[in-house]
This record gives sequence, C-alpha cells and structure tokens, in this order.
Amino acid sequence: MSYFDEIKNYLERIKKQDKYNAFLEIFEQRALNKAEELDERKKRGEKLGNLAGIPVAVKDNILVKGEKFTCGSKILEGFVAPYSATVVEKLEAADAVIIGRTNMDEFAMGSSTENSAYGPTKNPHDLKRVAGGSSGGSAAAVAGDLVPVALGSDTGGSIRQPAAFCGVLGFKPTYGAVSRYGLVAFASSLDQIGVFAKDPDLLESVFDVIYGVDEKDETSHKIDTSPKNVAFQRIEGYPKIGVPKEFLNCSQEVREIFEKALKGFNIVEISLPHTEYAVAVYYIVAPSEASSNLARFDGVRYGRRIEGDDLISTYSKTRGHGFGEEVKRRIMIGTFSLSSGYYDAYYLKAQKVRTLIAEDFRDAFKKVDYIVTPTTPTPAFKIGEITDPLSLYLQDVYTIPASLAGLPAISIPAGKTKDGLPVGLQIIGKRNSDFMLLFHDIFYFTGEK
Ligand code: GLN
Repeated sequence: MSYFDEIKNYLERIKKQDKYNAFLEIFEQRALNKAEELDERKKRGEKLGNLAGIPVAVKDNILVKGEKFTCGSKILEGFVAPYSATVVEKLEAADAVIIGRTNMDEFAMGSSTENSAYGPTKNPHDLKRVAGGSSGGSAAAVAGDLVPVALGSDTGGSIRQPAAFCGVLGFKPTYGAVSRYGLVAFASSLDQIGVFAKDPDLLESVFDVIYGVDEKDETSHKIDTSPKNVAFQRIEGYPKIGVPKEFLNCSQEVREIFEKALKGFNIVEISLPHTEYAVAVYYIVAPSEASSNLARFDGVRYGRRIEGDDLISTYSKTRGHGFGEEVKRRIMIGTFSLSSGYYDAYYLKAQKVRTLIAEDFRDAFKKVDYIVTPTTPTPAFKIGEITDPLSLYLQDVYTIPASLAGLPAISIPAGKTKDGLPVGLQIIGKRNSDFMLLFHDIFYFTGEK
C-alpha cells in the first residue's frame, strides 16, 4: 500500500471512530502532503527516515507550524503556531506524519481531561470513565488504535497516569533529555515531553528520534546512550528492584495486580521517607511556576482578546473569560506563594523539601537498579465522579516524586481489574538511564524474562 493510502486510512479511521474525543483536530492536508512526498521520494529511490509513514498524534500544547493550537483552553482560540517544536521538527525530519492534535486538560493542569475547554476524553476501555490526564487525548488515541504512537507532556504524571488508565505504555524521560522548545510551559522545572505507544519497539524508536541536546533549550542535556549498543548481560539476580513501602496504600485491586506482576523478581523493600511530602511540594512549585509562565496570555500577544475600556480591564476580561476554573486556581495559589512575605515560608521551603526527595532517590539507587510502584492508587474513575480538586491532586501521588527528582519513569500495563479496567505499573530509573529503562526493563516486565 502507498503511504498516501495508509495515511488516508488512518484519517478515515480517526474521523469515524473517535468516539473518545481524543482528537481536537486532524491535520488532514499536512498528513496527506507528507504521505505524498514520501511516495514520491520512495519512487525516486531515496532513503527515507526511520519513522517513514508512521502517524504521530501530538498533544495540543506542542507547537506544529501553521496549525491551530489551543492548549485545551479558550484563551488560545484562533491562535496558529508560528513555528514547530523541536520534537515536531525532529519527527518530520525522520519522515513521521504528524496527523493531528489531541485533547488535554487546560494548560496540562488536571488528571482526567475534564478541565479541557473542549469536553472530556473518554476511556476506550469504558466510555463512562475518564482517560486520565492531562495527556488523556494522546493516551486514548493510542489505546483506541486510532494511531500507533502519540506525544504527551508530563509535569507531575500527565503521561504515566493516563497511560495506566488506558492500558498503554507511557514514558516520561529524564528532565532535560528531550527539548522543551515549542512546548507551552506549565511548570518549567518539571515539564517533559514523552511518548505513548502499545509497541515498546516503536516507543523506543520515537524516543530515539526526539531525545538530545537542543541549543534552543538550555535545560536539555546529554543522557547515557551506551545501552543502545551494548548487549545486556543477564546476570543472576539482576536487576535488583526496589519497592518503596510508602507507595502501597493503594486500592486492594491495584495492590493485588501489582504484587502479581512482581512475582519472581528480585525485590528489595526500600524507603523514600520524604515522598510523603511530594504532593504538597508539587502543589507549591508547579502553581508558582505556572503563575509566572501563564502571565504571557494577556490578550495582547496570543489568541483571543476581549476588549475592555483600558489595558488593565482588557487583561482581566481576557483572562477572566479565557481561563477555566482550575487554571485560575493555580494562578492564585502560585501568585500567593511567590508573594513577598510568603516566598520563604512556601516556595523556598518547598524547594528544600524537593531536594530531600531527590536525595531519597539517590540513596535508594545505591541499593537497587530500578524502583517500581503502582502508577496510580486506583483504576480509571467515572467522568464527573471526582469534583473536589484536592482528591484529583492525589491522583498523582505515585508519579509526582519522580517528576520532582527529574527521573525517567515509564508506566506499563500490569493487568486488568475484574471490570476490565487497566492497571499500570511504574518503573523509575536512575537519572539519564532512559535507554536502559526502555531497552531493558519493558522486556523484563512484559513476561519475556
Ligand atoms: N495532574 C497533575 C496536575 O494537575 C499533573 C499534570 C501534568 O503532569 N501536566 O498538575
């Protein structure tokens, strides 16, 4: 089949079968143009890139030049991306086909996509349930077989949690392993672009294309790539897996599936004592950074504007109408904790505890090769079931610690509940050991050991 026909099939499938509200828009023209270009180049005998013809969906907070872009928010309605994110440029250079943008919680704040201005994404395993968030659209698009691979972003769990809810692989790289240029900043010291897929080889090939130092992102840095070339020695008793005792206060059914998945492995009980404070730390650090990052959406520079009588009232009308409730809540928390007189008591203290959490991981990794936890305390909940913001914040209790420490982590399907809902298992690796995590660990936990 030609690339053109293949991509046409994918586009038809998305149009017909996206009952999940996974896609906000498909880039039909862009995708068909790319497919046509690939067919022509193939005919001419040119060598095509490693991802030739693979359709990739991208979360709506990653810029794709010339395409509309909203971050799941009304405030960006009408905005067209003036350039592409580095990851998108790299994917297109590897001949992947960027096929559309996926639904998300507004500005990536949330755990269910219920905070999207464009309606929630539904879980392909049960349409009454959430797909997770904030990258719920990307997770559902892969779980529902609309695309084989999708990009998301993860600040405190937004790739791993929806991956767990939808029963797919979701990988958050080491902080700085993948350029954030062209990703709309939520909390800059935590944000990281990553990949969803069902097929571990495909996930790894996509990561192989998007990782790397980018001069446009000062925080991007080199990671360890040696395991790409070195065949793994299967040493008796390796790998040594740490299970932190603080991470087992999950629901009974999650715990049973988690323990069953770990049977036969070399398990060591470890402790990460300061992770108890991780959610509290995150909800100071992330809103603080968000309040500053989101100041740029003022009705003057991007997207929608609601005119007021003067500049200040234009700002407040635009932001008042354009931002949803959760985004406003975060901006208020962040502005408060950064304000003079409170900075030391909240923001600075949170940063100190963040360091203690990172040190807990450093100590644990002296004893073990990987740390394994359930990805979430429960399987996917019903749409509309959780209305209290604090309960939603607790969704990320197991994913936030690795984010605060900047560590690579992947959620892999561990099994299903009696009701057929997927449960995820999170594997956390040492800093910069992303390739090790991908090339080695998935293999261990998918029963092929
Ligand atoms: N659910 C968390 C939040 O609402 C994490 C979001 C994310 O990783 N982008 O902030």
